[in-house]
Amino acid sequence: MPSTRRQFLTSSLIMGTSIQSVRAKAAPGEPLIVSTWPFGKAGNDKALDTLKNKGSLLDAVEQGIRVVESDEKNRSVGITGLPNAAGVVQQDACIMNGSDHNAGSVAAIEGILHPITAARRVMENTPHVMLVGDGAREFAIREGLESIKVDSQKLHKEWHQKQIQLIPNKRPKDNHDTVALLVLDRKGHIAGGCSTSGWGGKLPGRVGDSPIIGSGLYVDNEVGAAGATGLGENVMRYCASFMVVDYMRQGLHPEEACVRTIQRIAAIDPKSAADLHLNFVALDKKGRFGAAGSGSGFQYSVTTPNFSKVFEGSALSKKDIGPEGGNTK
Ligand code: ASP
Repeated sequence: MPSTRRQFLTSSLIMGTSIQSVRAKAAPGEPLIVSTWPFGKAGNDKALDTLKNKGSLLDAVEQGIRVVESDEKNRSVGITGLPNAAGVVQQDACIMNGSDHNAGSVAAIEGILHPITAARRVMENTPHVMLVGDGAREFAIREGLESIKVDSQKLHKEWHQKQIQLIPNKRPKDNHDTVALLVLDRKGHIAGGCSTSGWGGKLPGRVGDSPIIGSGLYVDNEVGAAGATGLGENVMRYCASFMVVDYMRQGLHPEEACVRTIQRIAAIDPKSAADLHLNFVALDKKGRFGAAGSGSGFQYSVTTPNFSKVFEGSALSKKDIGPEGGNTK
């Protein structure tokens, strides 16, 4: 590796507050839960409790994400999330299990209170991986999942009026977030999931990265797991969570794998770094964890039996991910 490149990687990992996460790790044999944003912390705590109470790894992922989906104050996850341009909340979610490499997802699902549970049922009770739209909703209702009438979702009238002006060619502002939650259990098995209402004001039927295996989430039981939050269109064109895991497979620390993924995308993509809106969280089988964002301010939550706290992800400056800094070749 050329020395300038090595220097850049070193500095990107040591300049930010992310140094905490580069040094910290779960104690050997201890569970580790990592999720996007500070709102993921309540989900992490629930996931840890679930494991303590002899729940399975998948129970921990599902129960953790359900807590975030249930938070009525959350405007980007769950039924109180951001409506699309028609004023309807369409949600995306997925779940993936490392030990058997099984996965399930739902996309553009309407009126279902816990899309993560619907995704798990797709994985466990059907021969499929993904159900979308009305088919996903009908399946969830047949499975007995809690639902509401779609019309009653048009709660956010004011929001809707504002958002309807937003069309996908315009730069989205802070009108989207996702909970991606990754769990490493005591046996060293890994699973993860994510859930979101996606991009506020999106066109009806738009599906983001979150329910796409390899894009919004990827789990490899031999290596680790990664999840994404940010502008889905820029994640799904690169199978970016798969890319993060692949960098960990090559031996990179989870934080460095997130950094390297953003650099690589920024080096290829014609969009400016400021317009990419990419954020990743990752953990590996050794109990290490990390995160990075293409801009500043990406925070993520980490929980072990010894601590539960919010960290800052590595923030890559414009300079870092410009055409030269971002060139990973
Ligand atoms: N990735 C999500 C989407 O594009 C939104 C987010 O995480 O900010 O639907």
